[in-house]
Amino acid sequence: MDELRNRLFYEQKNGYDLIDVQERLAVENYAKGYMEFLNNSRIEREAVENAICLAEEKGFVPYVPGMALKPGMKVYKNNRGKALLLAVIGKRSLGDGCVIAGAHVDCPRLDLKQVTMYESDELCYFKTHYYGGIKKYQWVTIPLELHGVVALKSGETIKVCIGREPGEPRFVITDLLPHLAQDQMKKTMAEGITAEALNILIGSTPYADDGKDRVKLAVMSLLNDQYGITEEDFLSAELAAVPAFDVCEIGVDRSLIGGYGHDDRVCAYAELKAIFDLEIPEKTSVCILADKEEIGSEGVSGMQSAAFDCFMEDLCAAQRVELRRCYENSFCISADVTNAFDPIYPEVSEKRSEAKVNYGMALCKFTGARGKYDTSDASAEVVAYLRQLYEKNGVVWQMAELGKVDQGGGGTIAKYMANRNIDTIDAGVPVLSMHAPFEVVAKFDCYMTYKGVLEAYRAK
Ligand code: MN
Ligand code: MN
Repeated sequence: MDELRNRLFYEQKNGYDLIDVQERLAVENYAKGYMEFLNNSRIEREAVENAICLAEEKGFVPYVPGMALKPGMKVYKNNRGKALLLAVIGKRSLGDGCVIAGAHVDCPRLDLKQVTMYESDELCYFKTHYYGGIKKYQWVTIPLELHGVVALKSGETIKVCIGREPGEPRFVITDLLPHLAQDQMKKTMAEGITAEALNILIGSTPYADDGKDRVKLAVMSLLNDQYGITEEDFLSAELAAVPAFDVCEIGVDRSLIGGYGHDDRVCAYAELKAIFDLEIPEKTSVCILADKEEIGSEGVSGMQSAAFDCFMEDLCAAQRVELRRCYENSFCISADVTNAFDPIYPEVSEKRSEAKVNYGMALCKFTGARGKYDTSDASAEVVAYLRQLYEKNGVVWQMAELGKVDQGGGGTIAKYMANRNIDTIDAGVPVLSMHAPFEVVAKFDCYMTYKGVLEAYRAK
């Protein structure tokens, strides 16, 4: 009976039961590189900048239209500093399709409003408009840093980063003390902290003179000294407050990684590392670091933008191949995180189908919500293709769904890739406390996602 059970039943194993000592070391090594990347990539612009830096070390050069493309050539296209496309030209023609892995580098955060600065009762604040899906109560009483750019009328763009370096000041959003929170505590968690109360405390010393808004004047004058900006310059700025926690190992056994922005920089890094470690592939390998996924993949830097098609069309033109032929024969891993089953909240999950920590790269055949609405739903053939590829190459993976049916759901860039006539499947790292200021992933799953992307790139 045992033999029959083993042969007929599908049973998952903990990833640590499936790898040897040598691969455990590879997991640790991989995690180190990722932790450093994540710690220094707090907004999409920084992720793109750091990715370009790493890519250039590996021999990638900026793509110039008209460039002759030979197998093994490594090119990248920087989309407005907020998204990035990289390619390693394969031995085969682009007419045979390419292998694409697409992750996003934007994360939930608190964007400063354009008219952001105000003084109230001799304290100075920045007003914010949150970006992406957040639970607002998680963003008060935690240290925040400020990252982004101020674009000046002169055409110059000034980079701003306050709070990342040791010794630099940080920021915070205050909350009521429990002693005075009786009414607040009766509200729902969605209503207890309102969006217009997410105001960041940025100063308290008055300017030494008479008049109104003396604290604001003192703060603005410090910003003017440091960055040469005036209050009007905030109108053309993109500044975001993000959690100021350092990335660190979690657990006595150090098996997990805590940090801000695993969704989806954990997959972005997996793709980067995979495309860097690649020999000359059979098919051209393409790596996407997209922006704006958290707000629906809109805009010039999101996956609905023609920027991707433009880049691909250029590559195809260099080989006299039609773009639509290339797409039709291509395969895409939409590398994005999914929920990890949380034993503290089992009620939201259907345990059999939820991704588990340390069970490897999580494949989602479909995402979506309420009857698979809004998903591209990868075909059975695509799943079967990865089953054989991953079995052959020792990639530990699991099948995943996000939460109970009718409980939740979500979207990724997958449908925008599939809509281009590219076979696409979601796959990525399971995350605990997804979208929180401090998310948790397992080193094992991070490594297996890298391996999963690498083997897809390598496939014949
Ligand atoms: Mn994501
Ligand atoms: Mn997300």
